Amino acid sequence: MQSHAQAVVIGGGVVGCSVLYHLTKAGWTDVVLLERSELTSGSTWHAAGGMHTINGDPNVAKLQQYTIELYDEIEELSEQSIGLHLTGGVFLAATNERFDWLKSMHAKGLYLGMDTEIISPKEAAEIFPLLDPDKFVGAMSDPLEGHLDPSGTTWAYAKAAQKKGAVIHQQTRVTDLQQNQDGSWRVITEQGEIHTEHVVNAGGLWAREVGRMVGLELPVLAMEHMYLLTEDMPEVVAFNESSGLEVPHCVDFDGELYLRQERKGMLMGTYEKACKPWSPKETPWDFPQELLPADIDRIAPSLEVGFEHFPAFQNAGIKQVINGPFTFAPDGNPLIGPIKGLRGYWCACGVMAGFSQGGGVGFALSNWMIEGDPGFDVWAMDVSRYGDWASLAYTNKKVQENYSRRFSIRFPNEELPAGRPLRTTPVYDRLLAAGAQMGEAYGLEQALWFAPTGVVDDFSWRRSTDFEHVAGEVNAVRAAVGMMEISSFAKYTIRGSGASDWLDRLLTCRLPAEGRMTLAPMLNYAGKLIGDFSLANLGDGEYFIAGSGLAENYHMRWFTQNLPEDGSVEIIARGAGLVGLSIAGPKSRELLQRLVDEDVGNQGFRFLDIRKLDVGMAPCLVGRVSFTGDLGYEIWMKPEFQRYVFDLIQSQGEDLGLRLFGSRALNSLRIEKNFGSWAKEYRPVYGPYEAGMGRFVALKKEADFIGKAAAAVEKESGGKLRLRVFVVEAKDADAIGDEPIRYEGEVKGWVTSGGYAHASRVSVAMGYVAKEIADKQYGWSIDILGETLPATPQTEPLFDPSAERMRG
Ligand SMILES: Cc1cc2nc3c(=O)[nH]c(=O)nc-3n(C[C@H](O)[C@H](O)[C@H](O)COP(=O)(O)OP(=O)(O)OC[C@H]3O[C@@H](n4cnc5c(N)ncnc54)[C@H](O)[C@@H]3O)c2cc1C
Repeated sequence: MQSHAQAVVIGGGVVGCSVLYHLTKAGWTDVVLLERSELTSGSTWHAAGGMHTINGDPNVAKLQQYTIELYDEIEELSEQSIGLHLTGGVFLAATNERFDWLKSMHAKGLYLGMDTEIISPKEAAEIFPLLDPDKFVGAMSDPLEGHLDPSGTTWAYAKAAQKKGAVIHQQTRVTDLQQNQDGSWRVITEQGEIHTEHVVNAGGLWAREVGRMVGLELPVLAMEHMYLLTEDMPEVVAFNESSGLEVPHCVDFDGELYLRQERKGMLMGTYEKACKPWSPKETPWDFPQELLPADIDRIAPSLEVGFEHFPAFQNAGIKQVINGPFTFAPDGNPLIGPIKGLRGYWCACGVMAGFSQGGGVGFALSNWMIEGDPGFDVWAMDVSRYGDWASLAYTNKKVQENYSRRFSIRFPNEELPAGRPLRTTPVYDRLLAAGAQMGEAYGLEQALWFAPTGVVDDFSWRRSTDFEHVAGEVNAVRAAVGMMEISSFAKYTIRGSGASDWLDRLLTCRLPAEGRMTLAPMLNYAGKLIGDFSLANLGDGEYFIAGSGLAENYHMRWFTQNLPEDGSVEIIARGAGLVGLSIAGPKSRELLQRLVDEDVGNQGFRFLDIRKLDVGMAPCLVGRVSFTGDLGYEIWMKPEFQRYVFDLIQSQGEDLGLRLFGSRALNSLRIEKNFGSWAKEYRPVYGPYEAGMGRFVALKKEADFIGKAAAAVEKESGGKLRLRVFVVEAKDADAIGDEPIRYEGEVKGWVTSGGYAHASRVSVAMGYVAKEIADKQYGWSIDILGETLPATPQTEPLFDPSAERMRG
């Protein structure tokens, strides 16, 4: 075995082999793959080999599309058959809610360039002859589906990589990983040692253990999974003979089943409710290439529905039941990318649909390793979306929930209960007592809205039980004053002699003067948005940043990666160690004045001022800023003061009409101000000028901030897209994100977020459209739940376009 390689991939499943292939394809030929046993011997060998493009996240869907389109290439290059059957398929809906969901998937497909079609149950039965159309209300067809030979496909990636110079060692288990002082790695195996710059954890069933080698507890768990194979079925043979076609793929969501032809019979698999984790604590290194015992009782309820929905199965003999384990992250999406503080350690784990996603994962990860950026929007798959709070026990609960709900609908207003509450703040009980309906973000509980006794969310695609109550919260903010907990924001303290210079190089804005705040976008080297913060200068070389809570680990990874090596800058993620409350609305100043000694009049405490103030007896940091777009203040404090401050604000605000509001009201308030939000409008595929943040990009400042050159090019060229806000003639459902935006009937953009702007009493959608047509006043429409609805561009914010309320 050689003593050095540029990169070492650990794991020869479909994912590791895809990473290896993509590295060589991009020009890294000094790469090695180490496999404990034989290639495919983890979860890959017993996969059903199904593949499809549909995914709830359009960016993951895009990578799935890429994966499927890659298969011809690797088959040709490797001269290894992958046994591809591109049969197409149907997705079935037995309820109206499910049909609405299919329509929303179809809508996403429109702007992704997918050829899905919404069809009737009868039309579905023409494509998939085994179904009983009376059991369904609608369906969607998709030509880009099929299945392949899992082993052949893995070997095709491997052989194609070998042809480009990669080396594969089988029967070579990695037993340890040691990082050298210079950041490089010693990969210690049963057959010797390799020295490398980059290690890829593609350990599949053993990804957790390969994580533990470097002190990582990756949130990944294997689940048992079963599918059955039938004896030959006359109905299948008859269809093959009469049509000349294979019986295609089919997903029956309400039966929680997937099906396809296998030889002259059928394969039927299910994500059963009574699911079972496999090796929940540790995967044995000597787990051989063998199947787990079948347990038909566990999948019997799904099979019963299957026999009803597909009557031909009632007479079919079961030839074999396959039961094998494969891994999942808590939300079912892969875990890819680098790890904060572990230079050169890369994850390609938790890939539960290796044959739909493996190619995309390999492509994105190899880009990331070579170019420093995945080149796609991989936010939904980024390993950094979980923090240290995602413990083994949490992962266990969440993965089981995700598995058992794999084919269930998640409504846009639905919060999933498993593993909660986990992270709470001191006012949690007070919020609950006030009727808070809780959601979770980055593991932290936060109030979505406040319900009167007996009212809860009725899960739906359409406006629901919260509608009038969220309206009440919004109207209280616009008319008087509201209080919201804002602890879920990420907060960072930055200090040290190099802090100013470092921030100047990291962020695109000019640094604010002492006691002032500014909006601070952050770009990657390609000039794309990787953060939008509020940056405050607290004086004495100390800065305070607030940003998206979801992205805390994501941002800390970038911050630490870019810290100067001389130790002149310290950055601390404050997490739930610093909590917050916000008050907003025209009476918020009067309320604040009752709580503090200092003058907080418009001159004494200007818009974007920030200072340390005692709120009652509690030392706090108070900034005059609010994401509601109204007069408002953010008040930060240590957790031990939060209940006191909360109670004080409540008692002092009562006669001013103070009302608690939650994140749904905040969404309604910010969309009528045209304020974008991280992970929605601002993502690493949009440039700052496209996103309308150009005024915070100080190209003229001296500092050569990261992304400056690319931003200058974008300014010059204007980029490709523009973020626009539309008022939609919606009926009983508002845009939520990912709906297609049409111009003169043609799909020309997509919605990033939306909702009902209660104060303005209109339905709003924000989204990106092609730059060339972005300023057209007429001809727009947006698809919501299958209906194309007229939309009018809203160039000025609906509320307070001159920002007098915010600044006055
Ligand atoms: C019953 C069943 C049906 C499925 N059906 C489908 C389907 O229809 N479509 C689909 O897309 N997916 C399906 N899957 C899931 C699919 O199998 C996985 O997504 C895929 O196998 C993941 O591949 P991987 O490379 O990440 O992991 P693995 O296949 O587990 O590969 C990891 C490899 O790493 C090696 N390894 C680990 N640690 C070390 C170490 N320390 N040193 C050296 N080598 C190491 C292991 O030996 C193993 O070969 C199914 C899975 C099951 C169980």
